[in-house]
Amino acid sequence: MNHTANEEHEKLNFIEQLVEEDLKTKKHYGRLLTRFPPEPNGYLHIGHAKSICLNFGLALKYGGKTNLRFDDTNPEKEETEYVESIKHDIKWLGFEWSEELYTSDYFEQLYDFAVILIKKGLAYVDDQTAEQMAAHKGTPTEPGTLSPYTSRTVEENLDLFTRMRAGEFAEGEKTLRARIDMTSPNMHLRDPLMYRIKKDHHHRTGDKWCIYPMYDFAHGQSDSIEKITHSICTLEFEVHRPLYDWYIKQLEIYPSQQTEFARLNLNYTVMSKRKLLKLVQDRYVSGWDDPRMPTISAMRRRGFTPEAIRNFCDTIGVARRENVIDFGLLEFCVREHLNKIALRRMAVIDPLKIIIANFEEGKNEILSAENNPEDPEAGNREMIFTREIFIEHEDFMENPPKKFFRLAPGGYVRLKNAFIIKCDEVIKDDAGKVTQLNCTYVPESRSGHDTSGISVKGVLHWVSATENITAEVRLYDRLFTVENPDNQEKEFLHYVNPDSLKILNKAYIEKHFALDSIDSKFQFLRLGYFCFDKDSTPQHLVFNKTVGLKDSWAKISS
Ligand code: ATP
Ligand code: MG
Repeated sequence: MNHTANEEHEKLNFIEQLVEEDLKTKKHYGRLLTRFPPEPNGYLHIGHAKSICLNFGLALKYGGKTNLRFDDTNPEKEETEYVESIKHDIKWLGFEWSEELYTSDYFEQLYDFAVILIKKGLAYVDDQTAEQMAAHKGTPTEPGTLSPYTSRTVEENLDLFTRMRAGEFAEGEKTLRARIDMTSPNMHLRDPLMYRIKKDHHHRTGDKWCIYPMYDFAHGQSDSIEKITHSICTLEFEVHRPLYDWYIKQLEIYPSQQTEFARLNLNYTVMSKRKLLKLVQDRYVSGWDDPRMPTISAMRRRGFTPEAIRNFCDTIGVARRENVIDFGLLEFCVREHLNKIALRRMAVIDPLKIIIANFEEGKNEILSAENNPEDPEAGNREMIFTREIFIEHEDFMENPPKKFFRLAPGGYVRLKNAFIIKCDEVIKDDAGKVTQLNCTYVPESRSGHDTSGISVKGVLHWVSATENITAEVRLYDRLFTVENPDNQEKEFLHYVNPDSLKILNKAYIEKHFALDSIDSKFQFLRLGYFCFDKDSTPQHLVFNKTVGLKDSWAKISS
């Protein structure tokens, strides 16, 4: 290998290196087939996005394929709604699967595999209760002891297993176990469960089955049935690998190979579907797609783009060491993409009225404003300037500190894409709160045609107080108040941030929004990136704040 090729190889992650090696040595006849195997027991989260980008990304890079396999072996937790949402999310992320498959389609085949192991004397029906089994299992430092039922003959086991399938026994009464090694230092090899009885309705097979394969017996065999070459999973399955290999070897079936990588952990959130379901069920959030959730559907609703999520997954990379990624990095990737594509618009979310005394009443001055200075193709839009306008309350200060370049009594400021104005008079209510400013504008200061000679430091966003649309704006903060809600004294639910959603009912937005597509991404000038929420109707527009313009989080936490 020459120097540059070597460097190129260095930049590959360890799974890419492995795949390249296997392709070169024709280990799987030069084939590459990966799979993404979600259990349809919840919506996908950003952790799954990492696995999706990895599995589909490898296939794209090396000319292989990726199967989507629903790992549906737990009848009581699985639903068709989840299947649909998972498919939608993968497509939205920009990936296409080769085949859509279900572990439940292999139930018959898996049953036959189990019979083969029984016939080889490598599996037996056990009558022990879960407690008895646990007691026999030993500990990582002490060997376990044999089940009293290992002495059953092949015929007896075949008969009992057939009757388990036929529904003759109650849940928990019998299990099928692999006969491996009760003294193995690897607990997963101490006669692991292969089948248990469950009299639940399955979302696809209905009531056909009352015995269901365990993850370890289903997963590797499914990989093998599909002739998956590289079965990529998260590190906690590393200790399962000897069992994965054992089943494949004993059954003499296609040798799929398992490789593990470190899962994605993000701070200020939780990522187990069980916990996310709890947040939904106990109504801490409005649903799986509540924009505060770490699910793909929530991120889509919040205005994150597939490009940004893919770029994030690329940036964090693939390694074998667990770490925690800062949520701010994901937001950085979102901001970076939105900066390129977002339409610039003006919105005032905390309005303060200004009356421009020297501007004719009833007159509409049409101004031109760029849709996106980052994108020459984006063109311009029209904005309407009127005698009464709104600016942001916080852009005015009656007694400003020294370097306050926004509006103050007697001071000048530029209204973006419009004119320079001067604040002449401050109107307050009985409580002393500023309610209105009376100003004058400089007619020859029109943006792009400014001949006024006045130089101002501050540029403010604004919206006409008479030519506008009112809207609802939803602002979000972290869903949890602590970095690691999973690892606290109390249960994670105690750390839900009570101020994670703020609703502003009376924001004013420029009229042009009525012409914008529902899928558009926006930058509200000086406020951040926003998108339409799905609750929007033509009569009532609702916006989600996607992310701020700058990393406000880093500022607060540093
Ligand atoms: P959860 O604990 O959130 O329910 P899971 O691992 O049980 O997750 P599955 O539906 O079984 O969820 O996962 C499908 C695939 O996504 C698996 O290959 C799994 O390893 C991967 N995956 C799940 N969570 C993460 C994560 N945080 N980072 C990377 N990959 C993940
Ligand atoms: Mg799982």
